[in-house]
Amino acid sequence: MQNFDYHKPNSVDDAVNHMKSSDDGKFLAGGMTMLPTMKQGLAAPKDLIDLVGVGLNGITENSGSLVIGAMTTHADVASNATVRSKLPALADLAEGIGDRQVRAKGTIGGSISNNDPAADYPAALVALGATVKTNTREIPAGDFFVDMFETALAEEEIVVSVSFPTTAQAAYAKFPNPASRYAMVGVFVANGPDGARVAVTGAGSSVFRVSAMESALDGGFSSGSLDGISVPADDLNSDIHASPEYRAHLVSVMAMRAVDACS
Ligand SMILES: Cc1cc2nc3c(=O)[nH]c(=O)nc-3n(C[C@H](O)[C@H](O)[C@H](O)COP(=O)(O)OP(=O)(O)OC[C@H]3O[C@@H](n4cnc5c(N)ncnc54)[C@H](O)[C@@H]3O)c2cc1C
Repeated sequence: MQNFDYHKPNSVDDAVNHMKSSDDGKFLAGGMTMLPTMKQGLAAPKDLIDLVGVGLNGITENSGSLVIGAMTTHADVASNATVRSKLPALADLAEGIGDRQVRAKGTIGGSISNNDPAADYPAALVALGATVKTNTREIPAGDFFVDMFETALAEEEIVVSVSFPTTAQAAYAKFPNPASRYAMVGVFVANGPDGARVAVTGAGSSVFRVSAMESALDGGFSSGSLDGISVPADDLNSDIHASPEYRAHLVSVMAMRAVDACS
Protein backbone atom coordinates (compact mmCIF):
# COMPACT_ATOMS: atom_id res chain seq x y z
CA MET A 1 0.00 0.00 0.00
CA GLN A 2 1.40 3.40 -0.98
CA ASN A 3 0.97 6.70 0.88
CA PHE A 4 -2.11 8.74 0.07
CA ASP A 5 -4.08 11.68 1.50
CA TYR A 6 -7.48 10.87 2.94
CA HIS A 7 -10.29 13.42 2.54
CA LYS A 8 -13.72 13.33 4.14
CA PRO A 9 -15.92 15.96 2.43
CA ASN A 10 -19.40 16.67 3.77
CA SER A 11 -21.19 17.46 0.50
CA VAL A 12 -21.21 16.20 -3.08
CA ASP A 13 -19.93 19.59 -4.30
CA ASP A 14 -17.08 19.44 -1.82
CA ALA A 15 -16.18 15.91 -3.00
CA VAL A 16 -16.17 17.04 -6.64
CA ASN A 17 -13.94 19.99 -5.76
CA HIS A 18 -11.46 17.68 -4.01
CA MET A 19 -11.38 15.51 -7.13
CA LYS A 20 -10.87 18.53 -9.40
CA SER A 21 -7.93 19.76 -7.35
CA SER A 22 -6.23 16.33 -7.28
CA ASP A 23 -4.10 15.12 -10.16
CA ASP A 24 -4.77 11.49 -9.20
CA GLY A 25 -7.81 11.10 -6.96
CA LYS A 26 -10.31 8.29 -6.38
CA PHE A 27 -13.69 8.26 -4.68
CA LEU A 28 -14.13 5.79 -1.82
CA ALA A 29 -17.48 4.19 -0.97
CA GLY A 30 -17.37 1.02 1.18
CA GLY A 31 -13.83 0.24 -0.01
CA MET A 32 -14.77 -3.36 -0.88
CA THR A 33 -13.02 -3.13 -4.25
CA MET A 34 -11.00 0.06 -3.84
CA LEU A 35 -8.95 -1.04 -0.82
CA PRO A 36 -7.98 -4.55 -2.04
CA THR A 37 -7.05 -2.98 -5.38
CA MET A 38 -4.73 -0.56 -3.57
CA LYS A 39 -3.29 -3.30 -1.35
CA GLN A 40 -2.45 -5.34 -4.42
CA GLY A 41 -0.74 -2.34 -6.02
CA LEU A 42 -3.22 -2.23 -8.90
CA ALA A 43 -4.18 1.33 -7.99
CA ALA A 44 -2.16 3.97 -6.15
CA PRO A 45 -4.27 7.14 -5.92
CA LYS A 46 -2.66 10.20 -4.32
CA ASP A 47 -5.99 11.31 -2.84
CA LEU A 48 -8.79 9.12 -1.51
CA ILE A 49 -12.06 11.06 -1.29
CA ASP A 50 -14.46 9.31 1.06
CA LEU A 51 -18.15 9.69 0.18
CA VAL A 52 -19.35 8.43 3.57
CA GLY A 53 -20.30 11.90 4.83
CA VAL A 54 -21.84 13.45 1.71
CA GLY A 55 -25.42 12.35 2.41
CA LEU A 56 -26.10 9.78 -0.31
CA ASN A 57 -27.69 7.13 1.93
CA GLY A 58 -31.31 6.10 1.91
CA ILE A 59 -34.22 4.61 0.01
CA THR A 60 -37.37 6.53 -0.96
CA GLU A 61 -40.49 5.68 -2.93
CA ASN A 62 -41.39 8.22 -5.55
CA SER A 63 -44.51 7.84 -7.78
CA GLY A 64 -43.91 4.40 -9.33
CA SER A 65 -40.20 4.20 -8.63
CA LEU A 66 -37.72 3.41 -5.89
CA VAL A 67 -34.84 5.83 -5.51
CA ILE A 68 -31.79 4.32 -3.82
CA GLY A 69 -28.95 6.59 -2.71
CA ALA A 70 -25.52 5.66 -4.04
CA MET A 71 -24.03 5.02 -0.57
CA THR A 72 -26.83 2.64 0.45
CA THR A 73 -25.31 -0.71 1.38
CA HIS A 74 -26.38 -4.06 -0.04
CA ALA A 75 -27.52 -5.07 3.47
CA ASP A 76 -29.82 -2.04 3.68
CA VAL A 77 -31.34 -2.77 0.24
CA ALA A 78 -31.86 -6.42 1.23
CA SER A 79 -33.61 -5.59 4.50
CA ASN A 80 -35.59 -2.50 3.49
CA ALA A 81 -39.34 -3.04 3.88
CA THR A 82 -40.26 -0.84 0.89
CA VAL A 83 -37.84 -2.64 -1.44
CA ARG A 84 -39.11 -5.98 -0.10
CA SER A 85 -42.71 -5.06 -0.91
CA LYS A 86 -42.30 -3.02 -4.14
CA LEU A 87 -39.34 -4.77 -5.79
CA PRO A 88 -38.64 -8.04 -3.98
CA ALA A 89 -36.38 -9.25 -6.80
CA LEU A 90 -33.97 -6.40 -6.03
CA ALA A 91 -33.96 -7.18 -2.31
CA ASP A 92 -33.25 -10.84 -3.13
CA LEU A 93 -30.42 -9.84 -5.46
CA ALA A 94 -28.83 -7.65 -2.75
CA GLU A 95 -29.19 -10.44 -0.20
CA GLY A 96 -27.25 -12.79 -2.51
CA ILE A 97 -24.21 -10.51 -2.90
CA GLY A 98 -20.95 -11.76 -1.37
CA ASP A 99 -21.02 -12.45 2.35
CA ARG A 100 -22.33 -10.58 5.40
CA GLN A 101 -19.26 -8.31 5.65
CA VAL A 102 -19.34 -7.39 1.96
CA ARG A 103 -23.06 -6.61 2.20
CA ALA A 104 -22.48 -4.46 5.28
CA LYS A 105 -19.91 -2.22 3.56
CA GLY A 106 -20.45 -2.56 -0.22
CA THR A 107 -22.72 0.04 -1.83
CA ILE A 108 -24.93 0.18 -4.90
CA GLY A 109 -23.05 3.26 -6.17
CA GLY A 110 -19.67 1.57 -5.76
CA SER A 111 -20.89 -1.61 -7.41
CA ILE A 112 -22.23 0.04 -10.55
CA SER A 113 -19.35 2.56 -10.82
CA ASN A 114 -16.89 -0.32 -10.69
CA ASN A 115 -18.84 -2.36 -13.31
CA ASP A 116 -17.20 -5.67 -12.51
CA PRO A 117 -18.34 -8.05 -15.28
CA ALA A 118 -19.59 -10.49 -12.61
CA ALA A 119 -21.44 -7.94 -10.43
CA ASP A 120 -25.14 -8.51 -9.83
CA TYR A 121 -26.66 -5.00 -9.86
CA PRO A 122 -25.93 -4.17 -13.53
CA ALA A 123 -28.37 -6.91 -14.63
CA ALA A 124 -31.15 -5.44 -12.47
CA LEU A 125 -30.55 -1.89 -13.67
CA VAL A 126 -30.62 -2.90 -17.34
CA ALA A 127 -33.60 -5.28 -17.11
CA LEU A 128 -35.70 -2.85 -15.08
CA GLY A 129 -34.80 0.18 -17.21
CA ALA A 130 -33.35 2.06 -14.23
CA THR A 131 -31.89 5.57 -14.40
CA VAL A 132 -28.57 6.53 -12.84
CA LYS A 133 -28.54 10.06 -11.42
CA THR A 134 -25.16 11.74 -11.08
CA ASN A 135 -24.17 15.18 -9.82
CA THR A 136 -24.49 16.52 -13.38
CA ARG A 137 -27.03 14.40 -15.34
CA GLU A 138 -29.32 11.40 -15.62
CA ILE A 139 -28.05 8.33 -17.52
CA PRO A 140 -30.33 5.46 -18.64
CA ALA A 141 -28.89 2.14 -17.43
CA GLY A 142 -28.61 0.94 -21.03
CA ASP A 143 -26.05 3.70 -21.69
CA PHE A 144 -24.28 3.55 -18.33
CA PHE A 145 -22.41 0.22 -18.54
CA VAL A 146 -19.85 0.51 -21.34
CA ASP A 147 -17.47 -2.44 -20.98
CA MET A 148 -15.48 -4.42 -18.39
CA PHE A 149 -14.75 -2.00 -15.47
CA GLU A 150 -15.84 0.89 -17.71
CA THR A 151 -18.89 3.13 -17.38
CA ALA A 152 -20.19 6.36 -18.90
CA LEU A 153 -19.03 8.28 -15.80
CA ALA A 154 -16.55 11.13 -16.28
CA GLU A 155 -13.52 11.32 -13.95
CA GLU A 156 -15.08 13.86 -11.57
CA GLU A 157 -18.66 12.57 -11.78
CA ILE A 158 -20.36 11.05 -8.74
CA VAL A 159 -23.29 8.64 -8.79
CA VAL A 160 -25.91 10.20 -6.54
CA SER A 161 -28.74 7.64 -6.77
CA VAL A 162 -30.38 4.96 -8.89
CA SER A 163 -34.08 5.13 -9.73
CA PHE A 164 -35.88 1.81 -10.40
CA PRO A 165 -39.39 1.65 -11.89
CA THR A 166 -41.53 -0.68 -9.77
CA THR A 167 -44.09 -1.59 -12.42
CA ALA A 168 -42.61 -4.88 -13.66
CA GLN A 169 -42.84 -8.45 -12.44
CA ALA A 170 -39.23 -9.40 -11.91
CA ALA A 171 -36.84 -12.08 -10.67
CA TYR A 172 -33.12 -12.73 -10.61
CA ALA A 173 -31.49 -16.15 -10.89
CA LYS A 174 -27.77 -16.50 -10.33
CA PHE A 175 -25.27 -19.32 -10.47
CA PRO A 176 -22.73 -18.03 -7.94
CA ASN A 177 -19.05 -18.69 -7.80
CA PRO A 178 -18.91 -20.88 -4.68
CA ALA A 179 -16.00 -18.93 -3.17
CA SER A 180 -16.75 -15.24 -3.84
CA ARG A 181 -20.50 -15.48 -4.59
CA TYR A 182 -19.94 -13.23 -7.65
CA ALA A 183 -22.12 -14.32 -10.58
CA MET A 184 -20.62 -16.94 -12.87
CA VAL A 185 -23.86 -16.19 -14.67
CA GLY A 186 -26.78 -14.14 -13.39
CA VAL A 187 -29.97 -13.42 -15.33
CA PHE A 188 -32.46 -10.73 -14.33
CA VAL A 189 -35.86 -10.98 -16.04
CA ALA A 190 -38.46 -8.21 -15.92
CA ASN A 191 -41.89 -8.15 -17.52
CA GLY A 192 -43.32 -4.63 -17.51
CA PRO A 193 -45.36 -2.18 -19.59
CA ASP A 194 -42.69 -2.12 -22.33
CA GLY A 195 -42.53 -5.92 -22.57
CA ALA A 196 -40.03 -8.48 -21.35
CA ARG A 197 -36.40 -7.72 -20.70
CA VAL A 198 -33.64 -10.27 -20.11
CA ALA A 199 -30.29 -8.96 -18.85
CA VAL A 200 -27.26 -11.16 -18.27
CA THR A 201 -24.25 -10.56 -16.02
CA GLY A 202 -21.16 -12.70 -15.38
CA ALA A 203 -21.13 -14.23 -18.85
CA GLY A 204 -19.64 -11.44 -20.99
CA SER A 205 -17.30 -8.47 -20.64
CA SER A 206 -20.25 -6.40 -19.39
CA VAL A 207 -23.99 -6.81 -18.87
CA PHE A 208 -25.98 -7.57 -22.04
CA ARG A 209 -29.59 -8.16 -23.11
CA VAL A 210 -30.83 -11.23 -25.01
CA SER A 211 -33.29 -9.96 -27.62
CA ALA A 212 -34.26 -13.47 -28.86
CA MET A 213 -35.41 -14.37 -25.35
CA GLU A 214 -37.23 -11.06 -24.93
CA SER A 215 -39.19 -11.56 -28.19
CA ALA A 216 -40.07 -15.13 -27.22
CA LEU A 217 -41.32 -13.98 -23.81
CA ASP A 218 -43.38 -11.20 -25.40
CA GLY A 219 -45.12 -13.98 -27.35
CA GLY A 220 -45.97 -15.83 -24.12
CA PHE A 221 -44.46 -15.18 -20.72
CA SER A 222 -43.47 -18.65 -19.57
CA SER A 223 -40.19 -20.52 -19.24
CA GLY A 224 -41.38 -22.90 -21.97
CA SER A 225 -41.14 -20.01 -24.46
CA LEU A 226 -37.36 -20.06 -23.93
CA ASP A 227 -37.01 -23.72 -24.91
CA GLY A 228 -34.22 -24.07 -27.47
CA ILE A 229 -33.08 -20.43 -27.24
CA SER A 230 -29.43 -19.97 -26.34
CA VAL A 231 -26.73 -17.33 -26.66
CA PRO A 232 -23.63 -17.94 -28.80
CA ALA A 233 -20.58 -18.92 -26.72
CA ASP A 234 -18.13 -17.08 -29.01
CA ASP A 235 -17.70 -13.87 -27.00
CA LEU A 236 -18.38 -15.20 -23.51
CA ASN A 237 -15.89 -15.22 -20.63
CA SER A 238 -13.53 -18.10 -20.11
CA ASP A 239 -11.66 -18.69 -16.83
CA ILE A 240 -10.78 -21.44 -14.38
CA HIS A 241 -14.39 -21.52 -13.18
CA ALA A 242 -16.26 -22.03 -16.46
CA SER A 243 -15.79 -22.33 -20.21
CA PRO A 244 -17.73 -20.07 -22.63
CA GLU A 245 -19.91 -23.06 -23.61
CA TYR A 246 -20.78 -23.78 -19.97
CA ARG A 247 -21.64 -20.12 -19.40
CA ALA A 248 -23.85 -20.10 -22.52
CA HIS A 249 -25.70 -23.14 -21.13
CA LEU A 250 -26.09 -21.41 -17.76
CA VAL A 251 -27.63 -18.33 -19.40
CA SER A 252 -30.51 -20.45 -20.76
CA VAL A 253 -31.00 -22.31 -17.48
CA MET A 254 -30.86 -19.16 -15.31
CA ALA A 255 -33.24 -17.31 -17.67
CA MET A 256 -35.82 -20.09 -17.35
CA ARG A 257 -35.45 -20.14 -13.56
CA ALA A 258 -35.89 -16.37 -13.39
CA VAL A 259 -39.05 -16.49 -15.54
CA ASP A 260 -40.48 -19.24 -13.32
CA ALA A 261 -39.71 -17.13 -10.24
CA CYS A 262 -41.26 -13.91 -11.57
CA SER A 263 -43.97 -12.54 -9.31
C1 LIG B 1 -15.20 -11.04 -1.19
C2 LIG B 1 -16.11 -10.22 -2.08
C3 LIG B 1 -17.24 -10.81 -2.63
C4 LIG B 1 -18.09 -10.08 -3.46
N1 LIG B 1 -19.17 -10.70 -4.01
C5 LIG B 1 -19.98 -9.99 -4.82
C6 LIG B 1 -21.14 -10.59 -5.41
O1 LIG B 1 -21.49 -11.75 -5.15
N2 LIG B 1 -21.89 -9.83 -6.24
C7 LIG B 1 -21.59 -8.51 -6.51
O2 LIG B 1 -22.32 -7.87 -7.28
N3 LIG B 1 -20.52 -7.92 -5.95
C8 LIG B 1 -19.72 -8.61 -5.12
N4 LIG B 1 -18.66 -7.99 -4.54
C9 LIG B 1 -18.46 -6.53 -4.80
C10 LIG B 1 -19.10 -5.68 -3.68
O3 LIG B 1 -20.43 -6.02 -3.58
C11 LIG B 1 -19.01 -4.16 -3.86
O4 LIG B 1 -20.19 -3.62 -4.37
C12 LIG B 1 -17.94 -3.70 -4.77
O5 LIG B 1 -16.73 -4.29 -4.34
C13 LIG B 1 -17.80 -2.16 -4.69
O6 LIG B 1 -17.50 -1.85 -3.37
P1 LIG B 1 -17.86 -0.49 -2.67
O7 LIG B 1 -19.29 -0.15 -2.82
O8 LIG B 1 -17.32 -0.59 -1.30
O9 LIG B 1 -17.08 0.61 -3.54
P2 LIG B 1 -15.52 1.00 -3.48
O10 LIG B 1 -14.69 -0.22 -3.46
O11 LIG B 1 -15.28 2.00 -2.41
O12 LIG B 1 -15.40 1.74 -4.89
C14 LIG B 1 -15.42 0.99 -6.09
C15 LIG B 1 -15.18 1.93 -7.28
O13 LIG B 1 -16.30 2.77 -7.51
C16 LIG B 1 -15.95 4.16 -7.37
N5 LIG B 1 -17.10 4.77 -6.68
C17 LIG B 1 -17.63 4.36 -5.50
N6 LIG B 1 -18.76 5.06 -5.23
C18 LIG B 1 -18.92 5.93 -6.26
C19 LIG B 1 -19.91 6.92 -6.57
N7 LIG B 1 -20.98 7.14 -5.77
N8 LIG B 1 -19.78 7.63 -7.70
C20 LIG B 1 -18.71 7.42 -8.53
N9 LIG B 1 -17.75 6.50 -8.31
C21 LIG B 1 -17.86 5.76 -7.18
C22 LIG B 1 -14.64 4.19 -6.59
O14 LIG B 1 -13.86 5.31 -6.90
C23 LIG B 1 -13.99 2.89 -7.06
O15 LIG B 1 -13.37 3.10 -8.32
C24 LIG B 1 -17.81 -8.69 -3.70
C25 LIG B 1 -16.68 -8.09 -3.12
C26 LIG B 1 -15.84 -8.83 -2.32
C27 LIG B 1 -14.64 -8.15 -1.69
